[in-house]
Amino acid sequence: MPALMNHDFFGKDLLGDDPHIIGDTDDDRDAFLLGCQGPDPLFYLATSPLHAKYWHLGTQMHVNFTAELFCALHKAQDIVSADEKDIAHAYAHGFICHYELDSIAHPLIYATQYKICGAGIKGLDDSAHSEVHAFIERELDESMLWRIRHQTVAEYAPYKHIIIAREHVLRIISKMFSYLALTVYGKQVPPDMYRLAIHKMRRTQHLFYSSTGMKRNVLGDIEQIVRRYSMLRSMAPRPVANPDPWVANEDHHEWDDPATGTPHFESFYDLYDMALEKAKKDIPLFDQPDFDLDAAHKLTGDINFNGEPSEAQIEVHEVKPLGSPENAQGAENARNFEGAYDSEDFEGDYDSGDTKGSNE
Ligand SMILES: [Zn+2]
Repeated sequence: MPALMNHDFFGKDLLGDDPHIIGDTDDDRDAFLLGCQGPDPLFYLATSPLHAKYWHLGTQMHVNFTAELFCALHKAQDIVSADEKDIAHAYAHGFICHYELDSIAHPLIYATQYKICGAGIKGLDDSAHSEVHAFIERELDESMLWRIRHQTVAEYAPYKHIIIAREHVLRIISKMFSYLALTVYGKQVPPDMYRLAIHKMRRTQHLFYSSTGMKRNVLGDIEQIVRRYSMLRSMAPRPVANPDPWVANEDHHEWDDPATGTPHFESFYDLYDMALEKAKKDIPLFDQPDFDLDAAHKLTGDINFNGEPSEAQIEVHEVKPLGSPENAQGAENARNFEGAYDSEDFEGDYDSGDTKGSNE
């Protein structure tokens, strides 16, 4: 998922309240903040011809075997050498933070995505769910950047401040990922898969960075020659001062949890604060020496990273790799949907008809 600023701010907020959950070296801090990105870096392997086949593991980690994943994460702290343990420990704590924000905020994000895709906007349907999802999370990133730092990407370049870590930190986390992939998902992955994913993520974030918005528009236009919607345009944050995205639901309109149908009124900012409080409770539980599968089931409540019951293993829409044949649209379809994916583009009458999309 592209919301790397929110996940990074979340980790920094937690560290601000409770700096003792990790060691005091820069490597510990970097590992913790990488952990806050969870399995998301694996999605960027889609941009590597050699390693594209591994990006699905990012989806699997978000959807399946959530309790097993946390149980294995606890054990993964023991497969590294003694001098690597602090980094592994910090990474695991960050990974929990990713889970808390993902699982608590995703129901609102999916509910909003289904509303947008099902709103009857001409040329827009569920086939664009990946771009719409990215659009929502990008708007939330821009909003939090302003709320927390009172800055836009004109002053704050995410790729310079986020997912920074030394190579040996990446190698230690790669070891942990190989262990998780094998023991939870039965997949043998290259020993440096995670390190490669971070390199791809950095490169993509650098490419997507547009301090004035001009590069975003130019590259977005090029992408829309072959695809109806531009993933780059959806993902790349814009230099917008004081954004007030309706997708954050600050006015507390009712929305339904797509997995359960339960009505909610929380804004994204409420959910962010709830996730912070839950992280503060869950990290000490995870640190118990006897943390096992039962404890992992309790910690997660069997809710996966998408905020869905994990035992139901609801199929999420898979994000097709950028530029893959499945995701390519004919040039004749390009530009059917105008605009640069600003909030207004997706506004509509969301109360009419089936707004849940085809994820049912
Ligand atoms: Zn995620």
